[in-house]
Amino acid sequence: MAKVCPLCNALQTLAQECPRCGQPMVDGGMLENYFGPYGPYRTEDGKSGPDDSCCGHLYYCPNCGYDERLAVSMVNI
Ligand SMILES: [Zn+2]
Ligand SMILES: [Zn+2]
Repeated sequence: MAKVCPLCNALQTLAQECPRCGQPMVDGGMLENYFGPYGPYRTEDGKSGPDDSCCGHLYYCPNCGYDERLAVSMVNI
């Protein structure tokens, strides 16, 4: 049994509406792609990347540029 992120593995898609303009937001991918010494995104507390119980995803609105981090719970497969 392995724990995987349902979004990374295309088991599930998350419909997320932009709280600003109501347009559908799109999954920008795993936060691991953004975190790191040269990445544009960092957490406030200095921790980076997802842990093993959830996977961090960045959702952004292509319409107004709003973005939001979501912690996606891992599921067993
Ligand atoms: Zn993921
Ligand atoms: Zn928007």
